Amino acid sequence: MPTILIAEDETTIAEAVGYALRAEGFAADHVLLGAAVLPRIQAGGVDLLILDVGLPDMTGFDVCRGVRAASDVPVIFLTARQGEVDRVLGLELGADDYVVKPFSPRELVARVRACLRRRAPRPQARWQGAGAFEIDPEGRRIRYRGRMLELTRYEHGLLEALLARPGAVLSRAQLMDRVWPDALDSGDRTVDTHIKTLRAKLRAASTEADPIHTHRGLGYSIDPDAGC
Ligand code: CA
Repeated sequence: MPTILIAEDETTIAEAVGYALRAEGFAADHVLLGAAVLPRIQAGGVDLLILDVGLPDMTGFDVCRGVRAASDVPVIFLTARQGEVDRVLGLELGADDYVVKPFSPRELVARVRACLRRRAPRPQARWQGAGAFEIDPEGRRIRYRGRMLELTRYEHGLLEALLARPGAVLSRAQLMDRVWPDALDSGDRTVDTHIKTLRAKLRAASTEADPIHTHRGLGYSIDPDAGC
């Protein structure tokens, strides 16, 4: 019996959704505050999260960001205004679907069912360990010290290229070839700029180590075990 967690401060809505879910054979849990969501997800056993954007203590967007750093649980947003939909879609929060209020609980349950069906056949991610990093090559995701990194395509490409050859010094030209194969210019600045933002994200994930090393005049290398 899949368990659905409902994060919604309007109890009448939460009760109606919970009732519709239970009638269709789901188990339903309910929390009123955004701060309660992550601990409940981390406790395990939640198969899908229904997340109101307008929670009293924090926005659903912030809740989702925290959840995504820790879990792949499917998320369906409840939005109060059509105008919020653009944000749901535009923020690349990794949400699976959204429903605009007012909605029919039966419609939402149909979305839940469809969402779980879509997710079901996905094979388990094959995480490959590399020091403090874990790489999911098929999902194009990288975790650092247990935290999912939210990287742009280019940051991801750079990190992947460096991690493929731990300790090796890769020149800016080599990195350009790997990450920007179609670029016309030499692109030293491009590499440097994205290395800088990548470093900032690694620092945000863990202040203890600086795994990317600059080799003046030569390029960059990575020490995946830095600070391990
Ligand atoms: Ca609300």
